[in-house]
Amino acid sequence: MLVPAKTIDKLEEYQKDIEEKMYKAFGLDLAVLLGGIKINIYDLIEFKVHDKLARILEVKKNKKFENVIDLEMFIPEDFSGPRCPYCGRKMLQVTRKEEEQEEAFECVFCESFAELGRKLAISEYLKIEKCPELITPPVNVYEVFKMFGYELKFSDNPDKFAFAIDKATYDQNKAMYFTKMASYVYKKAGKYYETPADLETIAQEAEGLKRWGLLRGDVDNLGRIFQTLQVSDKEKRTPISFVATLSFELESFFSIVLERMVVEKHPKCNVIYSGGDDFMILGPWSELPLLARDITNEFRKYSKNDELSISMAIAVAPSRKFPVYKLGTLAGEYLDDKAKSYKRTYNNKELEKSAIYMFGGYVGWEEFDKVYKLNQQLEDIISQGVTRNILHVLSAFLEKQQEGEQPKIWRLYYYVGRLMERQENRETKALIQRFFNEILEEGNSRLYDKLGLVIKWVHDKTRKVESDENGKASQNRMTTEV
Ligand SMILES: [Zn+2]
Repeated sequence: MLVPAKTIDKLEEYQKDIEEKMYKAFGLDLAVLLGGIKINIYDLIEFKVHDKLARILEVKKNKKFENVIDLEMFIPEDFSGPRCPYCGRKMLQVTRKEEEQEEAFECVFCESFAELGRKLAISEYLKIEKCPELITPPVNVYEVFKMFGYELKFSDNPDKFAFAIDKATYDQNKAMYFTKMASYVYKKAGKYYETPADLETIAQEAEGLKRWGLLRGDVDNLGRIFQTLQVSDKEKRTPISFVATLSFELESFFSIVLERMVVEKHPKCNVIYSGGDDFMILGPWSELPLLARDITNEFRKYSKNDELSISMAIAVAPSRKFPVYKLGTLAGEYLDDKAKSYKRTYNNKELEKSAIYMFGGYVGWEEFDKVYKLNQQLEDIISQGVTRNILHVLSAFLEKQQEGEQPKIWRLYYYVGRLMERQENRETKALIQRFFNEILEEGNSRLYDKLGLVIKWVHDKTRKVESDENGKASQNRMTTEV
């Protein structure tokens, strides 16, 4: 935010206020850090602010909760009964519907977040009204807002002071503006009305392995791009308007274009958040690689700038009820530690980032089409009735190669020959031949190094038998199969 310089003098005061309130609500789990610097017009022209601010925030990260050290620590009033695994509050016993006879416990605080999610999914308008600041510890998410002096109100009636939740039908005569957050969720038809699909339903929509997954991504080298584009801009456009324009365009891509694309092309996915320069989407795992490719293509079309790219990562839930936030953290690590550190040479050019990490392998966007084509070919071969043992054989060869051994390709030829002999269908024979021609490289002496992730992808997608809740049985099956 560009603010008057006097605001910077008050940052510490704001920080203290936010810290104390966030601590009351979330303990040490969540923090908001403010960092700011006073700048002059030359700083803006040089545009070195971005890096400086990033460094200030980095330092602050190590001094989180400076202001709450003196506050009394959470004193649990009563140690009896189970506590919430997420926030540590005492859970209440609740009576569930007839179908579930067993005792159930619920955390009122965490449950209020789920309710807020449901309201956002089914309501049309959101109004944020001023109210007296609440000083007692918040018992639900609405009270967290009240601590800051604001009250959330949902309604289905148009109101000039409300935000329209659905961007697509936003009408400026009926509402003040639209909510910037993603609001699309996949819904399933219930008995009387549509409800947001739960994790179980989304997992069932996957091909093969019934699991949901997360796709996370963000724009590469944004700070550097702001800087380099400044320097090369010969037309001497006012830098501040340039930065503002680029920020605004990125914001529109991530808050509007991306969400619209999900609704139109991948409606079974949920946009958990998207805005600024990053996003996180939850959906059936088999849908995510294609969604990732579509986002990249759309972004290229939209930005018309080769220097801008997005890196992404996919994490697949190990069980259907796995906590979303935990998988989100894992996907974030894949994104920062894997996708963003992927260096390679392509057409004599050194490339880094601009890639996706999925199924245990890296794919640069320039490599995606080939990986996807092989995935399709291998899937076709299996759908023609060729035994899935082909996956096992390929994995075994690949393993040797990864251990540094020269793979005995003649053995692979022998296997392929036998496999083709056994096929009656000419088309299947041709498919097999074409596939093996594609995966052999360097004078047919080595296997394509992305083959591992292709195999994993096809393995999970062509799996027919589905198993129990927590995935243990299916994992056993996987080890015997491959
Ligand atoms: Zn809780």
